[in-house]
Amino acid sequence: MKSNTTKKLQWAFFAWFLIFPVLPVPNYWITIGNYIGLYSIVALGLVLLTGIGGLTSFGQAAFVGLGAYTTAYMSTALGWSPWLGLFAGLVVSGVAAALIGSITVRLSGHFLPLATIAWGLSLYYLFGTLEFLGKYDGLSGIPSLSVFGQDLSSPRVMYVVIWLSLGGCLWALLNLLNSRPGRAIRALAKGKTMPEAMGINTATYKILIFALAALMASLSGWLYAHLQRSVSATPFGLHMGIEYLFMAVVGGVGHVWGAILGATMMTGLKSQLQDWLPLILGSSGNFEIVVFGVLIVLILLFARDGLWPMVAGVWANFHPPQPAVVAPEIAPEGFGDMPRRTKPSVGSLILEVSEARKQFGGLVAVKDMTFEIRAGEVVGLIGPNGAGKSTMFNLVSGVLPASSGEIHFCGKRIDQLDSRHIVKMGIGRSFQHVHLIPHLSVLENVAMGAHLRGHSSPLSAALRWDRHEEAQLLFLAAEQIRRVGLGEYMHTAAGSLALGQQRILEIARALCTDPTLLLLDEPAAGLRLKEKEALADLIRQLKAEGMSVLLVEHDMDFVMGLTDRLVVMEFGSKIAEGLPAEIQKNETVLAAYLGGIE
Ligand code: ADP
Ligand code: MG
Repeated sequence: MKSNTTKKLQWAFFAWFLIFPVLPVPNYWITIGNYIGLYSIVALGLVLLTGIGGLTSFGQAAFVGLGAYTTAYMSTALGWSPWLGLFAGLVVSGVAAALIGSITVRLSGHFLPLATIAWGLSLYYLFGTLEFLGKYDGLSGIPSLSVFGQDLSSPRVMYVVIWLSLGGCLWALLNLLNSRPGRAIRALAKGKTMPEAMGINTATYKILIFALAALMASLSGWLYAHLQRSVSATPFGLHMGIEYLFMAVVGGVGHVWGAILGATMMTGLKSQLQDWLPLILGSSGNFEIVVFGVLIVLILLFARDGLWPMVAGVWANFHPPQPAVVAPEIAPEGFGDMPRRTKPSVGSLILEVSEARKQFGGLVAVKDMTFEIRAGEVVGLIGPNGAGKSTMFNLVSGVLPASSGEIHFCGKRIDQLDSRHIVKMGIGRSFQHVHLIPHLSVLENVAMGAHLRGHSSPLSAALRWDRHEEAQLLFLAAEQIRRVGLGEYMHTAAGSLALGQQRILEIARALCTDPTLLLLDEPAAGLRLKEKEALADLIRQLKAEGMSVLLVEHDMDFVMGLTDRLVVMEFGSKIAEGLPAEIQKNETVLAAYLGGIE
């Protein structure tokens, strides 16, 4: 979270870098400043891709190379204007990233970083071998930039161009992150279950951040080519790919400002070490690499989040942080006109589960379950631990495909659909084991549920054209938060709520999807008596509004007073179904479940 004062300080810090070249500082400082700016742009892309999206890439230097070589070739061999070269470079890198991304982002665990090393190396060797790119000598005689006939070749002028480009990227990225597409991107790092259950297409968003990081790298390469006026393969090799990642990690890979801090620290330190180490050690060599290695290990040991959180932490002592995202106090214009699903008439059949089965290898977790839910009903799904209740939920919500059997929702077959499509049809859910982004506020987490209620594109978000829709989505999320009774925690980090409250947060998030059927997996677990009563009131109120609810619960008193009907499971099968009062007296159930408790 950042306060407005902190934001001002950050932009002041940035402005200082812009004033820098006007001061009578030595040219050498300007050169260093130019490189810091160029590296920061690449590191910023890595913050988005790795720190926020959770996709580690060692291959960014290759995209810098694509941007640099494209403009170098276009402007020297074809005589194109550098501005066309910028456009061409962005297209080439964007298309290459989308292609490479669509193949590699599906890889999980350490396979993705390995793949980035592979294509980083391939592109590097390609630059160094292609005849028309000048092989290892590269291309020279690249023209300098100019605008309206004004030559921008002086390093001091280029400094301004580079830092303005960085400022533009920074602004757009900060805008993007605090928006509907930005929340989808932030949800990626926690796996695909939760985002997909909110209707977020995780594969598309992964390819998007992959392409965006590549575009920033490409922009950096373009600036580099016209600053340096020559390119060769060496600066685009794997060692630079690793160094970019180091910069981001040192500064704080999860923090946008960490990219600049990391690039500044690493570049400044490197130039100092290159000057001093040979003097101290009395011989020349790349000793700074050794110092860097030690530094990285220390940071990984003692400051895993990088240095930025420390800087921000010191500042927070003087200025208590303010929420980064705030919902409007009153309903924004047009809020009442947002599309809402019409609820099916009370009593009509909405969910039909017939002979649904789920097998995990030899284990049959759900064994030919058959039951139905009618509109406006609150149905409880009960049974001892391991009975298969959560698995049944996953089948209905599309988190898992059924092994056999059929599930119909409002007349449409859904048992083989992805959760992303099922939520669109009107089934919202909470998870037994919560799926939240702990460092984001309650508001930001709940707003993830409103993903399908908005349409803004990443571009419109980056340029702040989405502000009206964003206000509507945030207002919607805030309403649901107040409704479930978490109003006082609106701006608290979700991870610092009690576990019971985190489950309630998930209900608010599910409500944002505007469901007809709400699936709640053990929502009352971990709640105190008063909170349980409030939850029961909320469910009754939802029912009164025509909502249908399927509820997994352990607390018998809670379900007895609240549900219209109970379905009891044991070892994956349905062993009883009926009114709560009947179930309470059912011999089989008592033996299997209630008996077990007594
Ligand atoms: P409940 O929610 O009723 O406590 P679950 O549906 O979580 O029960 O689990 C039912 C059975 O299926 C358990 O034996 C559990 O270990 C098993 N199970 C659940 N999910 C998986 C999975 N993804 N892979 C393998 N086994 C699973
Ligand atoms: Mg369960």
